[in-house]
Amino acid sequence: ERVISGDVTNFDERFEQSLRPQFLSQYIGQEKVKDNLSIFIEAARGRNESLDHVLLYGPPGLGKTTLASVIANEMNVNIRMTSGPAIERPGDLAAVVSSLEPGDVLFIDEIHRLNRSIEEVLYPAMEDFCLDIVVGKGPAARSVRLDLPPFTLIGATTRAGALSAPLRDRFGVPLRLEFYEVGPLTNIVVRSASLFEVAIDEQAAVEIARRSRGTPRIANRLLRRVRDYAQVRGNGNITVETAQEALEMLQVDSHGLDHIDHKLLTGMIERFRGGPVGVDTISASIGEESVTIEDVYEPYLLQIGFLQRTPRGRIATRLAYDHFGYAFPAGQDY
Ligand code: ADP
Repeated sequence: ERVISGDVTNFDERFEQSLRPQFLSQYIGQEKVKDNLSIFIEAARGRNESLDHVLLYGPPGLGKTTLASVIANEMNVNIRMTSGPAIERPGDLAAVVSSLEPGDVLFIDEIHRLNRSIEEVLYPAMEDFCLDIVVGKGPAARSVRLDLPPFTLIGATTRAGALSAPLRDRFGVPLRLEFYEVGPLTNIVVRSASLFEVAIDEQAAVEIARRSRGTPRIANRLLRRVRDYAQVRGNGNITVETAQEALEMLQVDSHGLDHIDHKLLTGMIERFRGGPVGVDTISASIGEESVTIEDVYEPYLLQIGFLQRTPRGRIATRLAYDHFGYAFPAGQDY
């Protein structure tokens, strides 16, 4: 298992609940998103209405689930959580929405994985707060309309592009979460350390933040590993030295890259002269699926400018050559 994967692991789950901020004021970073949301929330509360449907998109681990429960807390309503793959039949959706109270939040994670027949049922639920479901089979089948209380659908997805246009258009508030800068990530590490009741030097928090690929979930995971290391090898306090030693042991480099990133980028440099090379070719050469490369490895490498996407394929940039100690080929201009 990759220590720097943005995806949630069983190991994370035990901790994540306790680390989740409850209110917007505790939600660190994402200033633009928070500014927008706080206005919409205040306006909806002022009118005593439910909040418009919200679509949260961005890579895994950036705080979409957390933000959904923050929104529910700010609106002072309950949240029901489910996910695209968990809703298999229209009846599953009916069961969830019919339990909602006025104003409640329905959170659907991985909403791009909702199947099309469910989407059809969801449209009138989002627009008119009603549900048309078919009861019975064959000639006796008839459609029944169920009225729902006004509610807020919050959908989360790592791939906004994979959402059908009609579904995407029904969200009044689409919000894109960005990778975190080192500053806010450092604050997240410091906050989590204080919740863990472990002492940490500011510089050590920066060190962890820097290697966390702009992702709070990874920052919290690295913090836990560093905490273990400090406890066993040191006196429990996290200093910059213990942080560096622990992170080296975990084989996470100064940019938060691990052996898979190394393999991907050095493979491009050595075998394909830095590209352009198609994602399927990269996939075959490192033995990872194309979608995994596109969804999991690439976004951060693009973000830090080590990789570029062009119509003819991916390119390893000069920054990547420098980072891995390769001479940049003369005549290339990226
Ligand atoms: P996603 O749903 O996008 O995969 P989560 O909401 O589950 O991500 O967040 C992963 C973890 O990161 C959570 O446990 C939470 O503690 C932490 N986290 C995410 N965003 C923030 C934030 N803005 N401030 C503080 N902690 C955060």
